[in-house]
Amino acid sequence: MMTQTNQPVRRERIFSPQSTTPTWITKSLGALGALALGAGFYTQVAPFLGGTRAAFPHGAYVLAGGAFALGLAILFGTSGDAEIRVGSGGVGVDKGGLRRIPWWSIDRITWNETTKTVEVGGRDSSGVELVIHAPIKNQSQAAAWIVKEGLARVPVVVDVMPKAVPEARADAAVEVAIDTIQVVGKRCSATQKVIAYEPDARICPRCERIYHKNDVPSMCRCGAALEREPRGARPA
Ligand SMILES: [Zn+2]
Repeated sequence: MMTQTNQPVRRERIFSPQSTTPTWITKSLGALGALALGAGFYTQVAPFLGGTRAAFPHGAYVLAGGAFALGLAILFGTSGDAEIRVGSGGVGVDKGGLRRIPWWSIDRITWNETTKTVEVGGRDSSGVELVIHAPIKNQSQAAAWIVKEGLARVPVVVDVMPKAVPEARADAAVEVAIDTIQVVGKRCSATQKVIAYEPDARICPRCERIYHKNDVPSMCRCGAALEREPRGARPA
């Protein structure tokens, strides 16, 4: 099972953090805030519309209160946590810029009992260390998919009790296609030989380690059995 360089479609799921505040609170705050904002605004413009400001002595406070409530609603309704991506390219996080840790570059997928969080540690595609956190409280499906895909692709680095995370649901996130891997200029994982031509590259379908077609081991370091190039085979 070795992927030829006409790479198959790579996909990943995008998980947005869920708000931890019950919807009715954010909705009520939002409605109340909008109402107060409108009323407050009216009291401020009333004098210009022929009314009198004296009739609404606290108008400015209503306006300020309305703006405050609306601000709170937005704050509670959105979460400060980042979007998480799980798929062919590994585990990614989008905090004003998308960074992914490829599967082959993940050192650990662990469970933090104190914060009830699945943690993914490794190096991103630029080789910079990164830890991605998927808290159960607002990213439970991202956590579930990290564990599910991690166990299927790089089981040796997964140390999470399956019961810690909920069951991974197929409908829990949007699934999108992502770009193929740029293999030219990358090094063969077995020999460090630079891949000069796209057709020379072979990619492990599980962890996406890259190999030169002549140096494919019978087993990838992720544990996947790899198909080796028959000796003397000419590139297609
Ligand atoms: Zn592999």
